[in-house]
Amino acid sequence: GYEPRTQAIYQITGRDPISVKPAETLESMWATDVFSLNKMQACLPKAVYKSLKSTIRSDAKLDPSVADIVAAAMKDWAMSKGALYYAHVFYPLTNATAEKHDGFISVQSDGTVISEFSGKTLIKGEPDGSSFPNGGIRSTFEARGYTAWDVTSPAYVMETDNGVTLCIPTVFVSWTGEALDKKIPLLRSIEAMDKSARKVLKQLGYSDVAPVSSSCGAEQEYFLVDATFANSRPDLLLTGRTLFGKTPAKGQQFDDHYFGAIPERVQVFMQEVERKMYRLGIPAKTRHNEVAPGQFELAPYFESADAAADHQQLTMTILRNTAKKHGFVCLLHEKPFAGINGSGKHVNWSVSNSTQGNLLDPGDEPHKNIQFLTFCAAVIRGVHKFGPLLRAVVATASNDHRLGANEAPPAIISVYLGTQLEDVFEQIQKGELSGCKPNGIMDFGVPTLPSFIKDSGDRNRTSPFAFTGNRFEFRAVGSNQSVAGPLIAMNTILADSLDWISNKLEAELSAGNELETAVCNVIKEIMDDHGAVVFGGDGYSAEWHKMAVEERGLLNLPTTADALPYLKDKSIEELFEKTGVLSPTELESRFEVYAEQYILSIEVEAKLVVDMAKTMIYPAAIKYVTDLSSAMVGFKELGLDFNLKIAKKAGELTNKIVDLSSSLESALEKENFDSTEDHMQYFAKTIRPLMDEIRECADALEGELADELWPLPKYQEMLFIK
Ligand code: ADP
Ligand code: MG
Repeated sequence: GYEPRTQAIYQITGRDPISVKPAETLESMWATDVFSLNKMQACLPKAVYKSLKSTIRSDAKLDPSVADIVAAAMKDWAMSKGALYYAHVFYPLTNATAEKHDGFISVQSDGTVISEFSGKTLIKGEPDGSSFPNGGIRSTFEARGYTAWDVTSPAYVMETDNGVTLCIPTVFVSWTGEALDKKIPLLRSIEAMDKSARKVLKQLGYSDVAPVSSSCGAEQEYFLVDATFANSRPDLLLTGRTLFGKTPAKGQQFDDHYFGAIPERVQVFMQEVERKMYRLGIPAKTRHNEVAPGQFELAPYFESADAAADHQQLTMTILRNTAKKHGFVCLLHEKPFAGINGSGKHVNWSVSNSTQGNLLDPGDEPHKNIQFLTFCAAVIRGVHKFGPLLRAVVATASNDHRLGANEAPPAIISVYLGTQLEDVFEQIQKGELSGCKPNGIMDFGVPTLPSFIKDSGDRNRTSPFAFTGNRFEFRAVGSNQSVAGPLIAMNTILADSLDWISNKLEAELSAGNELETAVCNVIKEIMDDHGAVVFGGDGYSAEWHKMAVEERGLLNLPTTADALPYLKDKSIEELFEKTGVLSPTELESRFEVYAEQYILSIEVEAKLVVDMAKTMIYPAAIKYVTDLSSAMVGFKELGLDFNLKIAKKAGELTNKIVDLSSSLESALEKENFDSTEDHMQYFAKTIRPLMDEIRECADALEGELADELWPLPKYQEMLFIK
C-alpha cells in the first residue's frame, strides 16, 4: 500500500543537513590519487624510468625486467594510500567499466603473509572472460580473454566497496588478438587519423608537422533522485527509468518549491564528486542545473580523446558511487522520466597538434584559412558518407527514447556550420570565394557591458552534429554511453576523408595547380557530393524530416533496430578495414553484441512492466474499485444516487491492464526469429508498443486512484523532493 511511499517523503524531508567538508586547494588535491609520470620519476631508478617513459611516448614494447620494478613501486605507492587490492580495469563492449579485484596478499608456507605484485600481474591479467559479451569472437576460437596494461594511461587508486583499490587501465583482447573492448579501436582510430592528417598537412606546405591527436570534452547530463524513492521503484532500480508514472500537469515549468527543494544537498554532492575527480586528475570544469527539475550537468576541461574516454568512464562511476553515499541515486539513463527532458552526453571533439594547433579553429578569417577549410570539409564529407555509422554508434534501447523526441537531436544526422561558415563553403562551391561575412556583434544594449563577437558556430540546439567555434559537438550521444564508440567513428571517418583529400590534392598539384586552387577544387567537389548534409535550420521541424529524406536523400533511422544493421554495411566494413581500426570479424562482433543488448534490455523492461502491472498497480486499482463499490452500497442505503463515472473509468482501465498484460506476456514468448535483425524489429515494433499501451492505462489510473493508494513514488515527488 501507501506506507513506503509516505514514509519515504517523511524520511527525506526530515533528513539532517549534510556537513560540508573544509575547503582544500586545487593544488593539494590535483592528481594525488594517480601514479603519474612525476611520481614514477621520483621513485623509480633512472634507467627504469627512462625505459618506461620511452615505452609510453613511442609505443615501444615494455621491457619485462622493467615491469617488475615498476610493479613494486606501484604497489608501495598504492599501499601507502591504503590499498590492499589491485584491479585490471577495462572497457568491455557494454557501456560499463569492468574490473576484477585481487589482493596483494600472499600467504607464505610458514603461515605468515606478505604483499606481492609482480611485473607479470601488472602487465597481463586473465579476467573471467565468459561473463563479457564478445559477439561470437571467443567461442569461435578460444574461450580466453586477456587484459593488458595500457602504459599510456596511468594507474590510480579508487575507494570502492572493497576498500581502496589500485586500478590499472588495460585493454581487453582475445587469445587470437582481436579487440574485445572499446579502447583498442579508439587507440587505432587516433593512429589512423594521425597518419592521414600529417600527410595532408605536409601537402598544405608545412615542413614541421607534429603528431596529430584527437581531443574530447564530454558534457554529462544526469538526474538525482532520493534513494528512498528509488528503492520503492523496482523500475528505477532494475532498468534505470520509470516504466510507469504520470507526467505532472505542468511538466518542466512545475513549481520548484513543491516540498521546499533543497539544492544544498545537491551542492554538497557535486563538491565531493569534483574533489574526487581532481584527485584522479580529471579536470572538472563546469557544473549547472539542467532544464528538467532534478537534472544536472557536469563537464570537464577537454583532454586527449583516449584520456578523456577513460576519465569519462571514471566520472560516471564517481557520480554513481558518490550519489549512493549521499542518499541519492544518480540516473544516467537517457530518459528516466517520460514527458520530462532527457539526458544526453555532448561529445565535443577536435583534432590538433603542437605545431599547427587546433586544426578546426577557423581563426578570424576562415575563408583564408586553408588548413581549417580542408579539415572542416573532411568532416562534412565523413558525416555525409557515413551518417548511418554515426547514427549506429549512438543507437541503444535507452537512447531511442530521446533521439527525435523534439528536445534532443533528430535521428537524422546532419551538420550545422553556422551562417558565416555555411556561406564560405557555399562560395567555394560556386567557385567565387570572395570574402566572408563579418560575425554578428552581440550587443547587450547596455553601454556599460562590453559587446562580444559571436562565435563562428553560433547556437543551434536542434542539430545532432554542430560546429561550435573551434570543434564539433556530437549531441546525439546517450548520457549512459561510453564516449569511445562515437570518438572511434569520428576519428575513423576523418581519417578516411583526409586520405581521400590527400589523393585528390596530389592529383591537383601534379596537374600544376596552385595550392589554393587545388584546395578549393577539392572542397568544391566535397560540397557538390556531400553538401546535402549541411543544414542550419530547425532540426525538430516536420519540414526538415520531409526535406532531409525526400530531397536530400539523408536517412531517418528512428530506432536502434533500424540503425544497427548499418554496421554490417559493405561501405562501413571497408572503412574500418582500410583504416585498420576494426577487422570485419571485430566489426561483426560489435553488431552482434549491441543487437543482443538492445533486445535484452527491452526484454527486461517488458517483463518488469508485466510484473509491476500485475503485482503493484492491479492490486491498488482493485482496492480502489472495491472501496468505490462499497461506497455505492452506502449511498444506496442513504437513499442517494451514486455517481458511477469515476468507478467505471477506474474499473475499465483495470480490466484493460489485465488484458494488455497477458498480451505482452504471450508476445514475449515468441522465440524463433529468422535473423538478429528480425528479432530487433520485433522488439521495436511489437513489444515496445505493447509496453506503451500498458503504461498509458497505468498512468491514467494514477490520475484516478486515491493518492494514498498509489504504490509508486510519483513524478513530482521524485523530481522535486531533495
Ligand atoms: P556548452 O554547454 O556551451 O556546449 P560547455 O562549456 O559546457 O559548453 O562544454 C564545452 C566542452 O567542450 C568542454 O568540455 C570543453 O572543454 C570542450 N572543448 C573546448 N574546446 C575543445 C576542443 N578543442 N576539443 C574538444 N573539446 C573541446
Ligand atoms: Mg554543449
